[in-house]
Amino acid sequence: MVAAISARLTVSSAGCDRALAHWCGSSRLEGVHHPRSPGLIVVAFALTLARVAAAQGPFITITPGPPEGPRWVDHVSVLAGNATIGALTAGVLQKLKGGSFKDGFVRGAVGGAVSYAGKRAAAQDFWGAGLLGREINAVGVSMVRNASDGEPTFSRLYLPVGPLPARATVRFTRGVAVQAQLDVAAAGWLAAGLLGSRLNLDVAESFSSGAPVFEAAGRWLVESEHSVLAYAAGRSVFLGDPGLYRRAPPPRARVLAHERVHVLQQDFVLTAWSDPLALAALNRFGAGRRMQRYVTLDALGWVVTAVSHLTYGSDRLDRFPTESEARFLAGR
Ligand SMILES: [Zn+2]
Repeated sequence: MVAAISARLTVSSAGCDRALAHWCGSSRLEGVHHPRSPGLIVVAFALTLARVAAAQGPFITITPGPPEGPRWVDHVSVLAGNATIGALTAGVLQKLKGGSFKDGFVRGAVGGAVSYAGKRAAAQDFWGAGLLGREINAVGVSMVRNASDGEPTFSRLYLPVGPLPARATVRFTRGVAVQAQLDVAAAGWLAAGLLGSRLNLDVAESFSSGAPVFEAAGRWLVESEHSVLAYAAGRSVFLGDPGLYRRAPPPRARVLAHERVHVLQQDFVLTAWSDPLALAALNRFGAGRRMQRYVTLDALGWVVTAVSHLTYGSDRLDRFPTESEARFLAGR
């Protein structure tokens, strides 16, 4: 794992996240799983954007240091990567709205650093680490979002409601107001887990992780790809049946920590990237404006997934920044 992140942490033009991530027992990714999702309506759009982004290629490369370097050096690199993505996101989006690139860049960098702190917390082993880390990450992502919109840094907080497929927007302008939104993609994946055959919801672990955690029992997690031990999709975590694999899988806690980092990465894409795009589209008509008050659509989660596949291919997907980050923070 350390070798993987030390070798090279590349931040692509698509950023640091994707809607689907999976854990593999070996250092090399052996297979790729493409689950179906309620977000299929955006796939065509997502793939188009992904091809454009992939054609441009990675434009930032961060090398955390020599492979045998101390672990703190890699932590600094991951922190810098998160800060850079927050900075570029907020700088570019604020500039597009006629604001200041510099203001967005600086405040976005701080938000990205807070997001890194959330991921570190989510990868710890204590009970509730995932929920705590997810909320810390959400504060950082909210800072990036506010900077993107040219709003005061803490004017709005976009907080996941524990493992529920919902997000609460807390506004601190003119008093305190709370608006709950249904996370459509997360609701779809939660429903898929609840309705899926021989998938058990681990309620205690779901509250601890701050995201639904399902475990397969006596069946392959992905029927067509038996090397997939776990994956995170739509802010739900799916774990394979450890008894089915020929090689003993890593400890469950490590696998969970890894997937929790992916959940936080998906939160970033939803609030910092997908929301502004969806709002720009939905605010053009009345029904759209009403809809965006109550639901949130994760259109760009698909783009990041597609970019990771197009940029690295199936057999080198473990080099994608989101995977490197999850492996590093989870301890492998
Ligand atoms: Zn992963």
